[in-house]
Amino acid sequence: MTEPTAGGIFGKDLLDRCISCGFCLPACPTYELTGDEASSPRGRITLMRALETGHLDDGDPTLVEQASFCLGCRSCETVCPAGVEYGALLEQWRDHQWRGMRRPWLARVLMAVVRRAWLLRLQGLVRRHARARAREGSPALLLGCVERGLYPEVSRAVRRLRPEVTAPAGQGCCGALHAHNGDSASGAELAREIGARLPGRIVTTAGGCAAHLSAHLGRDRVKELSEYLVEVGHLPLGEVRVGGRRTRVALQDSCHLRNGMGVTRQPRELIGAVADYVELPNAGTCCGAAGTYSVLRPEDSRTVLAPKLAAIEEAGVDYVVAVNPGCLRQLRQGLRARGSRVRALHLVELLYMAEGSTGPRE
Ligand code: SF4
Ligand code: SF4
Repeated sequence: MTEPTAGGIFGKDLLDRCISCGFCLPACPTYELTGDEASSPRGRITLMRALETGHLDDGDPTLVEQASFCLGCRSCETVCPAGVEYGALLEQWRDHQWRGMRRPWLARVLMAVVRRAWLLRLQGLVRRHARARAREGSPALLLGCVERGLYPEVSRAVRRLRPEVTAPAGQGCCGALHAHNGDSASGAELAREIGARLPGRIVTTAGGCAAHLSAHLGRDRVKELSEYLVEVGHLPLGEVRVGGRRTRVALQDSCHLRNGMGVTRQPRELIGAVADYVELPNAGTCCGAAGTYSVLRPEDSRTVLAPKLAAIEEAGVDYVVAVNPGCLRQLRQGLRARGSRVRALHLVELLYMAEGSTGPRE
């Protein structure tokens, strides 16, 4: 825990760490869009300092705009020579800036919905996500809120591929949504609740949930699916073919998985085992989904997505794989709107499709 400064908004050592070198500017998607210092990581840290010292109050229009315009992608962290924990700073900023009724109303609605575990369970009954009782010593699959409702086939594919992974009922939200939308206390509380409900190791198919849970429950306890598969020595079977040839597949990194947890190799290795892997020039940059960003700032979200879609088309791939349900939704919608022939899939769907070409696993 970092000690609060006199302003009490930010952890003291977190804010002090920035040396204003500007190395983070080229890594920032919002700075790339505007070329405006205020929408860069360095510019936002300057705004946070002004807030902390009282030089700006939280009604200042630039503060209001920049707290919301930031994607929270943490790409700036990966290039910062001073080790600034920008993700933590952003959470503290929004905790203050978006407190109570100042939080965007759509975020308030989403946060209230996912706190009702019975509603999430109801989704499961209707959408038939995977279900399998907890077993001592077996890892448990986190049934993410978005995935439960939109992509129940993802959890079913995990169970078919790795039957040792259980999928206990009665799970709530992991709290990532709250932490990213100005309520990090609830975010931490929900993460602890999931930790108690799913004792032992937790596997998730969502990069955002993995990063949030591992920050609260420990890196050893929480594994994103591709990490888990590589760690247990999962041998992908078969291959995915299209029109008599091996299919060409690209990856869209999950920002929090890549920038927060440093997981990049594993999904690429797994895709390469069943298809011809194609690296996109901007695979590691944000797709604009960014948690609730695509709902709160749809226009900016689409602007961030546009070069990504162009690169996918240019690469001549058949599929683009996502390792986070928000990215999957963003890519599917974007590709559909463009009339593209490229399909977006979750990694586990691709692996399961490859297994289908070989018959059941021995
Ligand atoms: S956040 Fe890091 S890279 Fe960016 S200006 Fe500060 S010290 Fe430099
Ligand atoms: S989190 Fe992403 S959008 Fe926000 S300042 Fe860092 S690089 Fe820019």
